[in-house]
Amino acid sequence: MLKALGYFIELLKGTGITARHFVVNMWFHTVNLVGIKTKRKGAVTIQYPEQKKELAARHRSLHRLMKREDGKPRCVACMLCATVCPAECIYIEAAEDPDLEIQKYPSIFVIDLKRCCFCGFCVEACPEDAIRMDTAKIDLAQTTPEDLVFGLDKLLK
Ligand code: SF4
Ligand code: SF4
Repeated sequence: MLKALGYFIELLKGTGITARHFVVNMWFHTVNLVGIKTKRKGAVTIQYPEQKKELAARHRSLHRLMKREDGKPRCVACMLCATVCPAECIYIEAAEDPDLEIQKYPSIFVIDLKRCCFCGFCVEACPEDAIRMDTAKIDLAQTTPEDLVFGLDKLLK
C-alpha cells in the first residue's frame, strides 16, 4: 500500500513538472508572438529544412582542408590527425613535395564519415591549421555509404 502511495506521489510530481514547463513555455511563446521581447524564448519549432537553425560559432560540422595561397593543401601529411582520431577514420598517404620547406603533402587524404564521431580531435591536433570543421554543413545524409567517404577533391572544395 505504502509502495503504491509513493509511486502515486512521484507520478504527481512528474506530471506537475511537465505541466509547469508547458505553462511557462506557452507563456513566453505567446508573449513573444505578440511582439514583446523577453530574454527567454518559448517553445521553438524550426521548419527544417526550409528554415535552418543558426549554429554556434564553435559547432563542429563537416571537415574541410585548408589551401595555401597557390591552391595546394596546407596539410604536410604529418599523420597527427590520423593518429589521434579515436574512430580511426582518417587515411593519409604522403608524397614528397619538391619544396623543401614543405617536404610532404598528402597524395591521398580520406575521411570516412560513416565512422567519424565529430569529436574534433583532428582539428585540435593539426599543427598547420590545415583541417577545420567550420563549414556549417550538417546535412550529410547520402544515398550510398561510399558517398560518405570524403577524399581530397571534396575536402578541398
Ligand atoms: S572529428 Fe574525431 S572522429 Fe572525426 S575524423 Fe576528426 S578525430 Fe576522427
Ligand atoms: S594533422 Fe594537419 S598537417 Fe598533419 S596530416 Fe592531419 S591535416 Fe595534415
